[in-house]
Amino acid sequence: MPYTKLIQAALDAREQSVAPYSRFNVGAALLTAGKEIISGANVESASYGLSCCAERVALFKALTDGHHNFTTITIASSGGAAPCGACRQLLAEYAPEAGVILINSESPDTPETTTVNELLPNSFTGEDFPEP
Ligand SMILES: [Zn+2]
Repeated sequence: MPYTKLIQAALDAREQSVAPYSRFNVGAALLTAGKEIISGANVESASYGLSCCAERVALFKALTDGHHNFTTITIASSGGAAPCGACRQLLAEYAPEAGVILINSESPDTPETTTVNELLPNSFTGEDFPEP
């Protein structure tokens, strides 16, 4: 499998999830155009609205480390859940061309694949703002 290392990075990141309330542990790993892997996991707060998904943690880490071109994001969770709406929006803005690999942590050898564009077609982006 060509994405073995990326899938393992998402599974490893999931181990670092801080989700004491939902116990829904999620890991994400982004592959940059330069073949670097940046991973993240979800972090929850007792004030639930402050929690952040694994996809956004990985994306924010990558962006603030200076990475801006992404080819793939891999997301690992129990059941292989797809990204929430908030994460789809940010991925559409910052990783619009990326493929998405969804990993069920109980059966990581049978990933599902999709794309950011398939998850959020006709997305709202900075391109929609009028020219200043
Ligand atoms: Zn999310």
